[in-house]
Amino acid sequence: MAITTFLAPRDGAEPSRGEFFLAPRSFFWWPLDGQRHAANIQDRELPNGEPISTLCDQDLTRAPAGDTEWLWPTCQGCWDATAARVGLR
Ligand SMILES: [Zn+2]
Repeated sequence: MAITTFLAPRDGAEPSRGEFFLAPRSFFWWPLDGQRHAANIQDRELPNGEPISTLCDQDLTRAPAGDTEWLWPTCQGCWDATAARVGLR
């Protein structure tokens, strides 16, 4: 309702599909070594066992992520870095 109104063009024309989405993110989240960290999107497809450079400046080994791992706490350093990237800080 309010969101649709906000996203609709002022002239009332049907917005293109792209106008409903934010710019692609430059990072992704992944559970690593007991916390949910963020890393540059270029590393998203790295295989398990490869090092991932996190936005909190750690090199951590990628491991499979199941339901339990996604419940790990969020790394504050990565949270701060991603908040800055998306303009929240
Ligand atoms: Zn981190």
